[in-house]
Amino acid sequence: MVRFMNVTKRYGSLTVLDSLDLDVTEGEMVTIIGPSGSGKTTVLRMLMTLETINGGVIYVDGKPLTHMAKNGVLVPADAKYLRRARSSIGMCFQHFNLFPHMTALQNCMEGPVQVLGLSKKEARARSEELLEMVGMIDKKDQHPSRLSGGQQQRVAIARALAMRPKVMLFDEVTSALDPEVIGEVTNVIRKLVSEHNLTMLMVTHQMGFARDISDRICFFFAGKIEEQGPPDALFGSPQRDRTKQFLSAVK
Ligand code: ATP
Repeated sequence: MVRFMNVTKRYGSLTVLDSLDLDVTEGEMVTIIGPSGSGKTTVLRMLMTLETINGGVIYVDGKPLTHMAKNGVLVPADAKYLRRARSSIGMCFQHFNLFPHMTALQNCMEGPVQVLGLSKKEARARSEELLEMVGMIDKKDQHPSRLSGGQQQRVAIARALAMRPKVMLFDEVTSALDPEVIGEVTNVIRKLVSEHNLTMLMVTHQMGFARDISDRICFFFAGKIEEQGPPDALFGSPQRDRTKQFLSAVK
């Protein structure tokens, strides 16, 4: 469903992703872990087409995301192509970025109406169903400023899902939250994993959570995958020295 082929990303002289190959299959939940600055967030930002690419190609659902075919060759995608291509990807960030002047329900309806062209009635039905799923239907008419961090994050997840993405990205969604509300957000993600066949890519520093819910863990080091595998293998018997050092430091 998601394929990074030989992807390189540089900022000036700094190589952040170094000929990265990464495949995520349909319905798979992959978590990226690794030291600060290893390129984890950059992987997600590349998928959101928030960054230009310096080498390689990214595919989503078999179609190039970063490039478009022109006369049989792949050329860098233009803005119009990128806008359409990225609509298949949903993202939740550390900071929820809800529209402050809209209620929870309006936040969820905005994308489906404005971008997908759904009628208000259809968008409302879809949004209410998702707000119910994340346990926020009782607060649907509240503005974000009246909601806790955990509640805002749950609305942000519903808002992203309302676009019916093929791939969901979660970037440190719990790190700005108070400890007592982290569980309400991780439970929503758990539910998505167990009940929906959605392809997901997550970056987190919460190793216990990653171990619990992921199909696969990728340990990043200096813009490459240093080691990857099922959670029990990677956390239980890491093979590479860098993985061992990282895991013993974060325990
Ligand atoms: P963290 O765990 O601290 O969030 P990360 O593994 O997610 O780290 P990235 O955010 O992907 O790391 O950043 C990788 C490297 O790229 C870092 O060294 C960072 O300073 C650098 N970087 C990120 N964005 C930019 C930018 N816009 N301009 C220049 N350098 C950048």
